[in-house]
Amino acid sequence: MGSFFIEFRDPLFSIIILFAIIFVISFFSYWWGRYKAKDNYRYLDRFLEQFHTLPSEDDLKALIRQGELSHKSWLLLADAYTKNGDYEKAIDIYSEVLRLEDAKENARDIMFLLGKTYFKAGFLGRSRDVFLEILRKNPRTPQALHYLLLVYEYMRDYNAALEVLEPLDELGEDVTKETLYLKLLALLQAPDIDEELRKIEIVALYKEHKQLPRMIFEYLFRIDPLLAWKHLDLKDAPLLADILWQLEEKEVNFDIIAKSGFLQELYTAKGYIDIAKSSQQFELDVLIKLPEDAAATIGFEYLCEHCKVVFPFGFHRCSSCHEIGTASLEYNLVRDYQKELSEAGDSFL
Ligand SMILES: [Zn+2]
Repeated sequence: MGSFFIEFRDPLFSIIILFAIIFVISFFSYWWGRYKAKDNYRYLDRFLEQFHTLPSEDDLKALIRQGELSHKSWLLLADAYTKNGDYEKAIDIYSEVLRLEDAKENARDIMFLLGKTYFKAGFLGRSRDVFLEILRKNPRTPQALHYLLLVYEYMRDYNAALEVLEPLDELGEDVTKETLYLKLLALLQAPDIDEELRKIEIVALYKEHKQLPRMIFEYLFRIDPLLAWKHLDLKDAPLLADILWQLEEKEVNFDIIAKSGFLQELYTAKGYIDIAKSSQQFELDVLIKLPEDAAATIGFEYLCEHCKVVFPFGFHRCSSCHEIGTASLEYNLVRDYQKELSEAGDSFL
């Protein structure tokens, strides 16, 4: 029996004890390490949570009133919130900073920032009220007038927007394009106007100004392609390539195409005619030279010439820089899924 037990003086006993101590220490140090890591995560979560939930509206107001930070620092923070898309917090800051005594001399600028943020957040009524208040005290503030015009336009109150152009005109700004744009918008969106009269007035505006052809012919080609072809100035055709590209073959006026090299290239690439042999526009040139059954077509993107932002859809007023009529077309060669599907359908039959 005695051989089963190791006496405490036995060297083997010391080795077992040593290993047991090493094991216990390793286990505790591993466990402590895991516990600390978890605790650190929890601490970090709690720490980050503060930034999601704080400051609340009341905390923010209290902090601003304490006056430990200058109003300019708060404006910087509000600007950061605006850039981050957190308009609500920015609005809270601007509104509270406006109450501060040391911000009084910059009240007009802060109100302008508040109005702009209301506009971006989609609170059009409040934005209008802020800009009207600025203009009541400082009627010659072009930036506020520009934004007030935008607000009225977004509210579809085109007559009010046109009225805003008068003081801008008096301030020496060229408002010709804005005036035409607003008149066109008012005409295009008037619900109770006779369609024939609408067409006549829109054609008359095109003949008089020769501006904003995309806006005019987007409507005319949709409503009355025959009339659109009749009045289209052929030098404007390249500006309308996407609209013309979408026309069905029966809507195309081949007599007019015969008068324009660009239209011949466009519709040869489309496959409606076979006249052009090449094109300066690379994508049209490729399509002209591809075999007829190639499943390729052209997709369009829209570049704002003023701010260089590219949009996947057409626009008349750039939503980024608010300029009018600055969209230029970007051609892209893309797969023609419709053609592929119809060819697959034909071979199946
Ligand atoms: Zn732009």
